[in-house]
Amino acid sequence: MMNDNKNINGTDISQQIKNDVKLDVEKLISQGITPKLTVVIVGENPASLTYVASKERQAKEIGMNSNVIRLPEESSQKELLGIIEELNNDSTVHGILVQLPVPKQINEEVVINAISPDKDVDGLHPVNLGKLVLGEARLVSCTPAGVIEMLDREKIAIEGKNVVIIGRSNIVGKPLFHLFLKRNATVTVCHSKTKDLIGISKTADILVAAIGRTKMITKEYIKLGAVVIDVGINRVDGKLYGDVDYEDVLPFVSRITPVPRGVGPMTIAMLLKNTITAAKTQHNIK
Ligand code: NDP
Repeated sequence: MMNDNKNINGTDISQQIKNDVKLDVEKLISQGITPKLTVVIVGENPASLTYVASKERQAKEIGMNSNVIRLPEESSQKELLGIIEELNNDSTVHGILVQLPVPKQINEEVVINAISPDKDVDGLHPVNLGKLVLGEARLVSCTPAGVIEMLDREKIAIEGKNVVIIGRSNIVGKPLFHLFLKRNATVTVCHSKTKDLIGISKTADILVAAIGRTKMITKEYIKLGAVVIDVGINRVDGKLYGDVDYEDVLPFVSRITPVPRGVGPMTIAMLLKNTITAAKTQHNIK
């Protein structure tokens, strides 16, 4: 029971978001606009195929148009860029997502740069990252946006808090830094070269682990009463684990996201929300 009280339930929160997005979809449809998300996947990476199928299914569940363009593993960069150009020019498509990683003959950066910033529902285009730094972003990387949304929906205050983020990837750590800063937190970003990681982590009112190392964060890292957000998804022998040793830290935290059913489900919910934002932007709707 105690655990349930401390858990931040990402499955429930993502469902609330999807319910809200569904209402937005209905509103747009009543104005003659059916929001559409197109996902492009190159190759047969099993985890990617699962994610992509789930994105398409969940988009359809809330009434959006959604399709997946599947390209063979050996596709060239030119072919992929050609498809992106068609999607950029297709006014019925509002959101474009190229599932990462792409095969090695394709340069990820070139592909991201080719997506129209208005349709970049992954929030990875340099224009959208630049707007994020300026505090003006409308399309923000889905996982970091999901972390902030979770805290807001759980009424966990951010302003004035000491936030420590462990991990500085372009997909999670860096965008999250800017989102927390915009919300007036005092933010520290740590990485593999950080000295005294435990000492810094122990100053955190909100500690975010986005590392990719199974159960690395133990009770030594936790300030009593901290909120812990575990972004990590690590697959070990077919089971999912976070970057946080949940059982070890539980007695010391006030709130925590479990793995699974924590941050994970938020990512697709935010992708759907971004698709609505993209559709509204493209049709000049506030
Ligand atoms: P990356 O591998 O891109 O980045 C990992 C970061 O952790 C790097 O900044 C790295 O430092 C840092 N790091 C690695 N080891 C240590 C260490 N021992 N001490 C301190 N810092 C360390 O990973 P991602 O950001 O893409 O993903 C992180 C985790 O989040 C993964 O488990 C991933 O599966 C998960 N994830 C979950 C998502 C979700 O939907 N919930 C979405 C995206 C990711 P340095 O920069 O110095 O190398």
